[in-house]
Amino acid sequence: MALSTTLLMGVRSSLRSVVLRRGCYSTSAPWAATYRSSGRVHAMADTGIAVIGGGLGGLTFARVMQTKGLDVTIFEREPSRESRGQGGVLDLHPESGQWALIQAGLEAEYRSMARAEGQDMRIMDKHGNLLWDEVSPADLMERPEVDRPALRNLLIESLRPETIRWDHHVISIEPSGDDGPYEIRFANGATTRAAVVIGADGARSRVRPLVNDAEPTYAGVSFVEIGIPDAERLHIEAAKTVGRGSLFALGDNKGMIAQRNGDGRIRIYVAFRMQEGGFSELGIAFNESHDLIRKAIMNQFEGWAPEIIDLIRACDNSFVPRPLYALPVGISWPSMKTVTLLGDAAHLMSPFAGAGANLAMQDGAALALKLFDSTDSASAILAFEREMFERAEQEARQSEECLGMCISQDGATRFAQQMSYYQSGQ
Ligand SMILES: Cc1cc2nc3c(=O)[nH]c(=O)nc-3n(C[C@H](O)[C@H](O)[C@H](O)COP(=O)(O)OP(=O)(O)OC[C@H]3O[C@@H](n4cnc5c(N)ncnc54)[C@H](O)[C@@H]3O)c2cc1C
Repeated sequence: MALSTTLLMGVRSSLRSVVLRRGCYSTSAPWAATYRSSGRVHAMADTGIAVIGGGLGGLTFARVMQTKGLDVTIFEREPSRESRGQGGVLDLHPESGQWALIQAGLEAEYRSMARAEGQDMRIMDKHGNLLWDEVSPADLMERPEVDRPALRNLLIESLRPETIRWDHHVISIEPSGDDGPYEIRFANGATTRAAVVIGADGARSRVRPLVNDAEPTYAGVSFVEIGIPDAERLHIEAAKTVGRGSLFALGDNKGMIAQRNGDGRIRIYVAFRMQEGGFSELGIAFNESHDLIRKAIMNQFEGWAPEIIDLIRACDNSFVPRPLYALPVGISWPSMKTVTLLGDAAHLMSPFAGAGANLAMQDGAALALKLFDSTDSASAILAFEREMFERAEQEARQSEECLGMCISQDGATRFAQQMSYYQSGQ
């Protein structure tokens, strides 16, 4: 029997006895991670389940594991929870992101921070014609928007102290036998030995090569992320153009996707269908002054309605290039007993179906529940992957189709037609 399989059986039976005795969660299963560091000397340590990456997927996994009394350690490369901006807003889908938060016991907290008005959506063509204008009633909380930083904080704060090892950038993972344990090395000089490895480390996963040799490929579209600060107060016209939720201004194989954030900022993804790394061919050079970058982006929208171009004019000095990548649609691999992937590490896709974070959270919760319900890690991973491959393939296909539809010559018309088709229930 594989080492990890034995461990998992151990934790299951010890957990059951703790639950029976105390009627509550165990605070620490007997095989809990023991990770020690003393000054600059990091001793080789043993970890039961090591999660690589503390994004929404890894955090949700850890939270659901802990609510079931199972131990887990997250190794995250960021130096601290504050060290990186965490992006804009998400709408959590009932069957995935919201379901995961219910499993995590955090539904009430999520509902209290979600915004119904963020569900409003507009689609505009390049001439400024509104082809779709959907206003959500205040009591419709089907897919409310939530700010990603708030959601991440909620998950981080729900974990036991010391669950996340910040500043642990994984640089290599070597199995010492067919099914582990795994020697994990970090950029800070630390090492650990883990029985089970969960790769939740996003697009450029270090864990993925253990199960699959696929690499993300360029999806044909790149964003420049820009933003308008304090729009309601300082840029009233821009705020009116965008409305309370999202605006899609599309056409000519490009567009702008603008979203209201909870902090008053309007976050805008300016999208171009272009060659990989081809910003300079569009005259956009990120080493130029902010004014020149802004002007170069505006030039790309020559002939568009003034209120759309004014969104670029109003943006501050943050210009972040974001080329989009995806793993092959339908990616899968033969199941392994002690290592698996979740979220973007498993099935990176373009954001056009709004599914990536939702799936990452669903994966995290689903895997934790499978581990809790199984007597060994191998059968849990097999059952989890079977379902994950299927749902990820559907979303990846939809995401590919949506990207093709939105960033096209007549993107606004096609997207609006699609919306009315959905609304009519055909
Ligand atoms: C512009 C844009 C807009 C999007 N909008 C939406 C949306 O509206 N709705 C939606 O559902 N999805 C959206 N997505 C997709 C979503 O952001 C991702 O699918 C989601 O963040 C994936 O979560 P994850 O936990 O799998 O990975 P990540 O969020 O990428 O987290 C991975 C974590 O692993 C850490 N890490 C990476 N490498 C290592 C290493 N070697 N060692 C240790 N730690 C490591 C990283 O620091 C990070 O914290 C969008 C994506 C983009 C690019």
